[in-house]
Amino acid sequence: MGLENCQADFPVLERLIDGQRVTYLDSAATSLKPRSVIDAMSNFYSQNGVNIHRGKYYLSEEASDSYERVRYSIAQYLGAYGNEIVFTKGTTESLNLVAYGLGLQQDDIVVGFLDSHHAQLLPWRRAANLKLVNLNSDGGIDLDHYHELLKLKPKVVVLTHCSNVSGNIAPIEEMTIAAKEACDAIVVVDAAQSMPHPHLRIDVSKIDVDFVAFSAHKMLGPTGVGCLYGKSSRLNELRPLMLGGGMVDWVDTEGSQERKIPHRFEAGTPAIASTLGFGEAINYLKRFGEKKSLEHTEELTEAIIKGAMERDYIQLLGTKSTENRCAIGSLRIKNCDDLSDIARSLSDSYGIMCRTGHMCAQPIVDEQMGDEVLRISAYIYNTTEEIERFYQSLDELVSFLG
Ligand code: PLP
Repeated sequence: MGLENCQADFPVLERLIDGQRVTYLDSAATSLKPRSVIDAMSNFYSQNGVNIHRGKYYLSEEASDSYERVRYSIAQYLGAYGNEIVFTKGTTESLNLVAYGLGLQQDDIVVGFLDSHHAQLLPWRRAANLKLVNLNSDGGIDLDHYHELLKLKPKVVVLTHCSNVSGNIAPIEEMTIAAKEACDAIVVVDAAQSMPHPHLRIDVSKIDVDFVAFSAHKMLGPTGVGCLYGKSSRLNELRPLMLGGGMVDWVDTEGSQERKIPHRFEAGTPAIASTLGFGEAINYLKRFGEKKSLEHTEELTEAIIKGAMERDYIQLLGTKSTENRCAIGSLRIKNCDDLSDIARSLSDSYGIMCRTGHMCAQPIVDEQMGDEVLRISAYIYNTTEEIERFYQSLDELVSFLG
């Protein structure tokens, strides 16, 4: 029942909708939340509920301590220092903060990848001259083209560790070494889809990346909070995106003095309860070893690939090997133009929740598939039986299409 029988920890999986259990295959959009995460948030509101870093009274100091403990727990998870962890709203805000904060000029070259999410593509395109690395026909990265573009000596290289469309896992260690050797580029990693998996956790004490962005809600935590890891030397040079209370030491009529990192990036009242939930999500994930996480992901990925390969009415985006791949499958269905109809029927008739569209990564979807896709994505609480059930249900629906 999922990795180490964890399904029972997720209350939503006990729900019956029209008498059917929920089969959740949309974790690349957001993960489900275990009971411990929900409890951490509701305990905060029932037992504390006050603001942090402001009041010199018991409840405020208690809330501030709990909040800062989460920062240190995340730092430890990444092999970073506490002051290198900035809380943001999520991956999108983290990437926008870096793209804005580096103060690039429009003709500065940034190298990105065609499989990037819009959260990566759009801020960099606005900030600088973004050049995109091509993909191979199997949705993987064209590394020769990457090395070609590095000859342009980009200031920044923006990697996506795991594509939310193809599930492809990029060799970020090798790519970071190449970027540093070629031109000492600043390396920014979108880890929204990889950080949820213990076996793909980025250890920044081992890989020389400058920034890593990720979201709590894709790794069992709540929505509304995420993280930007930045090397302290880089964060010290970065301009804050948001100004306001909490990020300054003093303000007078003429000017102000910004606080030290990471606080100068955290203007305004943060998502305190959600951050505490994020901390619990990290605690929950820590109990799964990397080996088991990898094995479970490989089993799910194999089921996704096998099911698609056995059906000639399905076209599956991405490599057909389980190696360096996450359990994400983006499909096209022969003779079916309206995938959203299929997704609705899967939901209403079978209790299977999955997604259709361009997945906020339109360039890769358009190039590799020509049109919108139906995406299934599986995580620690999913089983291979659920993926088989998805394909059997799809068989039935497609047979009605004729
Ligand atoms: N990058 C990738 C690869 C994603 O899959 C997503 C979300 O789908 C994002 C960035 C944006 O994350 P968020 O919406 O949490 O900011």
